[in-house]
Amino acid sequence: MADVVIVGGGIVGCMTAYELSQADLQITLLERGGLGQEASSASGGQLVPLHLAADGETSPLFEFHRGSTYLFDELVPALEDASGVCMGYERSGVLRVAEGENEHDRLKQTFTAWQRNVGMPVSWLDVDEVHRLEPGLGPNVLGGIFSPDERTLSSARFVEALGRILRARGVDVREGTPATGIRHHEQQVHAVETPQGEIQTPELVLAAGAWTGLCSQWFGLTVPITPLRGQMVAVRPHTPILGTTTVSYNGAITPRPDGTVTAGSTTEDVGFDDRTTVDGIRGILEILPRLVPALADATLVRTWSGLRPWTADGLPVVGRLPGWTGVTFASGHGKHGISGAPATGLAVRQLIVDGRVEAAHDVLSPARFVE
Ligand SMILES: Cc1cc2nc3c(=O)[nH]c(=O)nc-3n(C[C@H](O)[C@H](O)[C@H](O)COP(=O)(O)OP(=O)(O)OC[C@H]3O[C@@H](n4cnc5c(N)ncnc54)[C@H](O)[C@@H]3O)c2cc1C
Repeated sequence: MADVVIVGGGIVGCMTAYELSQADLQITLLERGGLGQEASSASGGQLVPLHLAADGETSPLFEFHRGSTYLFDELVPALEDASGVCMGYERSGVLRVAEGENEHDRLKQTFTAWQRNVGMPVSWLDVDEVHRLEPGLGPNVLGGIFSPDERTLSSARFVEALGRILRARGVDVREGTPATGIRHHEQQVHAVETPQGEIQTPELVLAAGAWTGLCSQWFGLTVPITPLRGQMVAVRPHTPILGTTTVSYNGAITPRPDGTVTAGSTTEDVGFDDRTTVDGIRGILEILPRLVPALADATLVRTWSGLRPWTADGLPVVGRLPGWTGVTFASGHGKHGISGAPATGLAVRQLIVDGRVEAAHDVLSPARFVE
């Protein structure tokens, strides 16, 4: 018996459990494998809401992620204190660079729009300034936007910290336990089924990442959340040659506290195929020396991939399922689930504990997929 059963132990399920566990509820978290084993560990861990205003315009999605990103400033020290896990939180900003004249003009236009409307600090660096900030950049880099409030962390450590805290708080974390269906009566959830038996509950939260669309069939519908593969690479340069996460129109490279540099990622609609491929990795490896020539000689450390939960309209699905009692969706964050996790956990807690929906979250409701 549980007050709430959460299906999926990625960052969204764990953050949701963390928020709900502050409300004195008995929570069971079901993860069919290990916590964070899918997209959440594969992630680059960039908290980059400005990506969501890349055309210069803001949107409810951008506002959601901007707010969520600023939540990390209080959240990270609290999680690190309570868990003893260092989350590799770097507040050193993000540099977006232009390669060549065309990209330069495009990026400058974006900068002008951002100065006007994003409510986050940004500054334009001309060719000399950008190379002074990052002397390792190649000669093709002609300028850039520096945004000091964007950050990075280790998403795997983020999950690890949450897992420790959830267990310490008495959350019933069940790894190796898939949810296989529900028992319900007249559109009210009564239990979640697993191979080890059912767990009675009046409240179910679906946070099953790229598998959430499959789980939605338990309710006689298909919420269009599907996998979108991303591949990544880690290399180790001989000496540190990059200080700032650097993003071009073709990819992103991030210096890590352990001396490696990670790069990625691909965006591939290939179903549940989570392999790394020659083509995918080759594309990423080409970007590395173009942006930072000395990386041509770096040691290749690791390649990996993950399946992002992608929604047909590009927006996360966070909210109550209309027509049902006790069913909440928390999924579909696509390329930004790490940055969106804190605001998502908070939104689900407000829904379940306070019965409250922020008007700004209406646009994320699963109602848009229900006839
Ligand atoms: C290469 C790559 C780079 C990325 N970079 C960034 C980035 O820089 N910044 C950012 O914010 N985001 C990034 N993302 C996106 C981010 O990782 C995802 O949006 C986020 O991790 C989604 O979290 P989730 O908890 O919804 O899904 P997941 O982490 O996939 O977790 C879902 C979990 O549900 C479990 N599950 C599924 N079905 C069941 C079931 N029936 N029963 C029990 N358990 C089940 C799965 O095993 C899985 O562990 C990246 C993603 C990838 C792949």
